[in-house]
Amino acid sequence: MRKTKPLVIELPRRQWQRYKRLALKTPNEVLVFLVGHNDPDRIEIVDFVYPAQRATPDAVEWTPQDIVKLQAQILPLEVVGTLHSHPGCEPHISKADVDTATHFGEVVFGVFSWWRPEGQRRRRMSLDFYYGPTAPITHKLK
Ligand SMILES: [Zn+2]
Repeated sequence: MRKTKPLVIELPRRQWQRYKRLALKTPNEVLVFLVGHNDPDRIEIVDFVYPAQRATPDAVEWTPQDIVKLQAQILPLEVVGTLHSHPGCEPHISKADVDTATHFGEVVFGVFSWWRPEGQRRRRMSLDFYYGPTAPITHKLK
């Protein structure tokens, strides 16, 4: 059967808000594993799991073995991908991001960017998800 590209990824609102609060007050990148269902026509995230990580303002490292361990504990749910922050950055994905997501076979790959445009007081934010990991997909909260 042909696998169709899902149009939307659904995120749990509370988990997202908690993540956003943490990411906005952390000068370093913050990464979570996205746990949920990955069906051919629908991706639903039900939990954000915070693995041990070593982060700087422009990089975050985690242990691949942690995904394997987590995966065994959450069946039949799956680790569908990751979300990480880009503090002080306008929206972009780096080559390292694409390489990492490709290497680990992430189905969805999210970046939360926040930045302050020069001369403006208001902080701007953008939450962007990719499928595969470079095709943009939309998200919604539930
Ligand atoms: Zn990144």
